[in-house]
Amino acid sequence: MKIYGDKEVWLVTGSQHLYGPGVLKQVAENSQKIAAGLTESANISIKVVAQETVKSPSEILAVAQAANSNPNCVGLILWMHTFSPAKMWIAGLSALSKPYMHLHTQFNAELPFADINMHFMNLNQSAHGDREFGHVSTRLRQERKVVVGHWATESVQKQIDSWCRVAMGWHASQNLKVARFGDNMRQVAVTDGDKVSAQIKFGYEVHAYGLGDLQKVVDAVTDAEVAAQIETYKKEYDVNPAIFDDEHQFQMLKNEARLELGMLKFLTEGEFGAFTNCFENLTGLTNLPGLATQRLMQQGFGYGGEGDWKTAAMVHICKVIAKGREGGSSFMEDYTYHFGAVDQVLGAHMLEVCPSISAAKPKLEVHLHTIGCRNDIARLIFTGKAGPALCISLIDIGTRFRVIINEVDTVNPPQELPKLPVAKALWEPRPNLEVSAAAWIQAGGAHHSAYTQGVTADEIVDYAEMAGVEALVIGADTTVRNFKTELRHNAAYYHLKDGVYALISL
Ligand code: MN
Repeated sequence: MKIYGDKEVWLVTGSQHLYGPGVLKQVAENSQKIAAGLTESANISIKVVAQETVKSPSEILAVAQAANSNPNCVGLILWMHTFSPAKMWIAGLSALSKPYMHLHTQFNAELPFADINMHFMNLNQSAHGDREFGHVSTRLRQERKVVVGHWATESVQKQIDSWCRVAMGWHASQNLKVARFGDNMRQVAVTDGDKVSAQIKFGYEVHAYGLGDLQKVVDAVTDAEVAAQIETYKKEYDVNPAIFDDEHQFQMLKNEARLELGMLKFLTEGEFGAFTNCFENLTGLTNLPGLATQRLMQQGFGYGGEGDWKTAAMVHICKVIAKGREGGSSFMEDYTYHFGAVDQVLGAHMLEVCPSISAAKPKLEVHLHTIGCRNDIARLIFTGKAGPALCISLIDIGTRFRVIINEVDTVNPPQELPKLPVAKALWEPRPNLEVSAAAWIQAGGAHHSAYTQGVTADEIVDYAEMAGVEALVIGADTTVRNFKTELRHNAAYYHLKDGVYALISL
């Protein structure tokens, strides 16, 4: 069984009737072998299913329509084994509502130099057949991934897998529901935005609930359920023994267990994949959830603090793309800086950082929370694992959305931070803090981000392309001057693109 269960990507092979039944039979067999090879490969995390070879406009349209209506199909891999005149693809590609990748490959790897004849040449024409197909994709102004190379190589399979994971992220985005407990933090700009436009662009729904709706479910959690949950905490974390000696601290831990189970029930029953809350909207709850939110994130829910529904959705989508990979994904905030030999960012939040990014078994402690609401709150304390990571910010810039991605390197802190009672990660942004933060600020990036060690920048760029929104990468090669030019060029491009599309649809 593959990581993504019954979800699948379809391999659709293009040809035409010119070559006769013998060649078409061979084409169909080869397609089946490639799909089976990809599915069996440990490099690929999803089932790849070969469809019947398409040889006419009606067959191409039919497979596109079948893909659109099949709930398990998350995307298509298209490949021209032979020449497949591309006007035949116009109707099908225009009707297709799922993402596709163009795999520019060939069934055989090496040329049989001693034996090659015209039969071989006619059977293996992707070198020009795929170029004819690509012309029409470009002519239709369609965003797609083009992967080039022999399908059986590790490098190509890893690129295919990367795209399939993004297709799964896109599928999750299309079906995601985000629950908001309360509203955004008052006066904060970047966590707000146009939820109707977000649903049109990314597919996900954002629903607000009064705190009373959640309170009812939280209060219905039984003492027995809370007691069982405390046993789970003991198994999974280094729980400070003082908690069990102190009636007040133990009560704070029980509060957190009740909040976790209540929110889990609310989110599960409502089929939500992400949620937000806000310290300004806590009426009826014991406190701002700490441990509870951290654990829900670890279970796959996206989260955004202070009502940040865009980041909540992004965290969930990262978790889907990264499924089965080692690196975790979390809600994050650039909190404070270390200016030194190498400038560093200490990322954290008031409480809510996901333990999936932890380097070691987290500690569970109760501490006084002093920001916004004053309360003793149980929380997990840990340090983010060293290694490459991304900070991803999705923002609404009024007329459209923008995704900003900073490639960073998380490092081990040079010493303990014994008085800091929250989870944190210390990182060095690429190319350095000076350029990274200047570029991020010029782009309007948020103070919140989806932090991930399980997703690559290219994957988030592919996700943005599926949505048709701008993506900017701040990485090793970034300069502020070029980045500002890119911002200006993109402003013109997206204005024209969206404007022209709006006119066409009238
Ligand atoms: Mn915040």
